[in-house]
Amino acid sequence: GAAVALEAPQHADVAALLPVPTASSDKYRRGVVGVVAGSEQYPGAAVLAVAGALRGGAGAVRYVGPAADAVLARFPEVLVGRGRVQAWVVGPGLGSGREAEVGRALADTDVPVLVDADGLRGLDAGVVRGRRAATLLTPHAGEAAALLGVARETVEAGRLAAVRELAGRYGAAVLLKGSTTLVAPGGGGAVRVNPTGTPWLATAGSGDVLSGLAGALLAAGLGGVDAGSAAAYLHGLAGRFAAGGAPVVAQEVAAALPRAWRSVR
Ligand code: AMP
Ligand code: MG
Repeated sequence: GAAVALEAPQHADVAALLPVPTASSDKYRRGVVGVVAGSEQYPGAAVLAVAGALRGGAGAVRYVGPAADAVLARFPEVLVGRGRVQAWVVGPGLGSGREAEVGRALADTDVPVLVDADGLRGLDAGVVRGRRAATLLTPHAGEAAALLGVARETVEAGRLAAVRELAGRYGAAVLLKGSTTLVAPGGGGAVRVNPTGTPWLATAGSGDVLSGLAGALLAAGLGGVDAGSAAAYLHGLAGRFAAGGAPVVAQEVAAALPRAWRSVR
């Protein structure tokens, strides 16, 4: 096919995107992130997505789902239940049979939505294409393969083609996670390659932190591609800082986000 422009953001590109509160800021202006994540089986995914959103600069996080006790035990800052939000993060640890909750977030068509993990199951391209606000899909290779109806190996062998195909089909920004994270815009055009990260990030829950972080940037007003690529960049730096050449766990990646944030500014 035709040549595709690839862009690799650097510190200054990401710094220019990051929201910084001003004297007139309040928590609502900074952005409220609604997190629809977690289940009885996977309560930790909710905790980690919330951690990413809080460390991503959300003015507040609203949690909607069955893991409220686990979330509040870790983060008393969180609001529980529905209310006005500036972005939704749906999918981490949802398990199966939760399509209605995913559909409800997507039906909030003027609010940006990030869809990850179990939220991607059976995702309707027509619904996504019909939305007015940004939609950002964040599959790993296996989830991307399921959406495309191909084998995981096919995605791994052609990651650039896969991310562009998904972005075109859904008319949405797509962030394909993995050893090289790619972010493609829904309308075609340059694909961003994330230059940060470490294989130590291949650990349970690390993607959930990324979802919350990108959701906070959507809530602050960034578009899908900018939110995804800035989040991947910070997440990769945080992973490197937290790991430092040794095993890391996802909550430590979230805890290292402030250091990553400071290091690009
Ligand atoms: P998930 O698959 O949803 O748990 O997300 C895993 C996170 O770790 C994503 O941010 C991936 O980009 C990152 N990751 C997974 N494998 C690697 C790898 N081999 N090298 C660098 N980052 C990785
Ligand atoms: Mg995941």
